[in-house]
Amino acid sequence: MTTPPCRLPLPDDAEAVLAELHRVHAPLTDGRVADYIPELAKVEAERFALALATVDGRVLAVGDADHRFTLQSLSKPFAFGLALTLCGRDTVHRRVGVEPTGDAFNSLVELEDGSHRPYNPMVNSGAMAVSALIAEAAGGEAWPRVQSLFDGFAGRSLSVDEAVFRSELATGHRNRAIAHLLKHHGVMAAEVEDLLALYLRQCALQVDVRDLARMGATLAAGGRQPQHGGTVLPQDLVRDLLSLMLTCGMYDSAGRWAYEVGLPAKSGVSGGVLAVVAGRFALAAWSPRLDGAGHSVRGIKALKALAQRWRLSLFDHHG
Ligand code: GLN
Repeated sequence: MTTPPCRLPLPDDAEAVLAELHRVHAPLTDGRVADYIPELAKVEAERFALALATVDGRVLAVGDADHRFTLQSLSKPFAFGLALTLCGRDTVHRRVGVEPTGDAFNSLVELEDGSHRPYNPMVNSGAMAVSALIAEAAGGEAWPRVQSLFDGFAGRSLSVDEAVFRSELATGHRNRAIAHLLKHHGVMAAEVEDLLALYLRQCALQVDVRDLARMGATLAAGGRQPQHGGTVLPQDLVRDLLSLMLTCGMYDSAGRWAYEVGLPAKSGVSGGVLAVVAGRFALAAWSPRLDGAGHSVRGIKALKALAQRWRLSLFDHHG
């Protein structure tokens, strides 16, 4: 059975479809909770929530929608937006590229030959280069600027999960190695430990699935936050973010995601996934068990099913 294409901001059957997809995917127990950050391993693996937020401020959610989780890599596109705002495209792209890597998010070999730039801001090396740019541009105001950008997107004041932050700071030797590599190649001026703390604090910001959907809806609305109506990011920078989410947001499965789903998206190792339907709404999922590329198994499957059911791909023809 094919569902007719929908051009309205919110499909009529949205509430029922979200509930159905939650029910259908809840029995899936494939995948593993991330444990390389010890504090993340303490999460209840069964948790599962889905949400949809529209550009005109409506929010629907099912499942464990009141439970909070840390943004982790979901923070990367937003921080990239801040770096673009503070430094401008030319400066940002002297330090970080826009090419997909085909490698894992925490690869140690993600520096381009010659320039030694990280390939893109969606993988750890690029996200740390972004943090370095923010640190250089904002100095002592770097963290307040980061916090206020994320608060602006979510429409409320977010808090940092200090336990997750400290846990990753104490054990994040791979990220430390990446930061040292950037320092070695002169890609950043900041000190390694300061840089790591700024990047990991941003990863440890806590949201629930409605917050995440609202952050995505702000991108879908070209940078205007649907609740408070303020512009959080200029529209042309939002387009930059969404382009990179489409080509690089899902790391080494970005090609498959674009092929099967066709939407800008981002995931985090806490189990959150965000997909944006520009001009209409954002879909968010959270469930902690991850596949081999670090994406929520249930989240990916549920969002994929939604995108196919409503024909949300950028390349679906609705003529
Ligand atoms: N803080 C995590 C890390 O840097 C984020 C990774 C992710 O969510 N993919 O390893």
